[in-house]
Amino acid sequence: MANNIKMVEAPAGIQGEGFFATKFSDVVGLARSYSLWPLPFATSCCGIAYMATMASTYDFARFGTERLSFSPRQADMLLVMGTIAKKMGPVLRHVYEQMSEPRWVIAVGACASSGGIFDSYSVLQGIDKIMPVDVYVSGCPPRPEQILEGIMKLQELVQTESFRRRDTPEYKALLASYGINVN
Ligand code: SF4
Repeated sequence: MANNIKMVEAPAGIQGEGFFATKFSDVVGLARSYSLWPLPFATSCCGIAYMATMASTYDFARFGTERLSFSPRQADMLLVMGTIAKKMGPVLRHVYEQMSEPRWVIAVGACASSGGIFDSYSVLQGIDKIMPVDVYVSGCPPRPEQILEGIMKLQELVQTESFRRRDTPEYKALLASYGINVN
């Protein structure tokens, strides 16, 4: 059994007998990326694909995302799955604003990414109309493998994100472009 265990690679650093030195930000990035707390915001069919991804065959928890949160205050990865009606936009936005930094967003499936086939007056044509999105997962619905790939893409981003990104003028300008105030 022990041979089946895959160890996470250490961040780049300097190693020698009895010591290992690396950057603090790399260690924190590694820890954050394998302990993301998801908040699933599912409105329709893509949510079912996500449930399959959570279940034993695909086992989403293998990626360190075991701890689901249905409170935005205890989550750092928002997964939006399904058609988002324009009337629901403010609710979703409220959820996003209640998450503390650092927070990341994945648009799962065509509807969350672009409105999908529902090019109608009542459907939001992509959640990036109301909040910044880090990763888009294509598909209608996406296969569980695609959702897992989206998580792995986000993990890459989390691992390499600078400590200071959230304090940069660029990030503040991004949030300001959505009308979100940052102090
Ligand atoms: S992308 Fe397709 S499967 Fe996903 S919520 Fe929209 S219609 Fe349903």
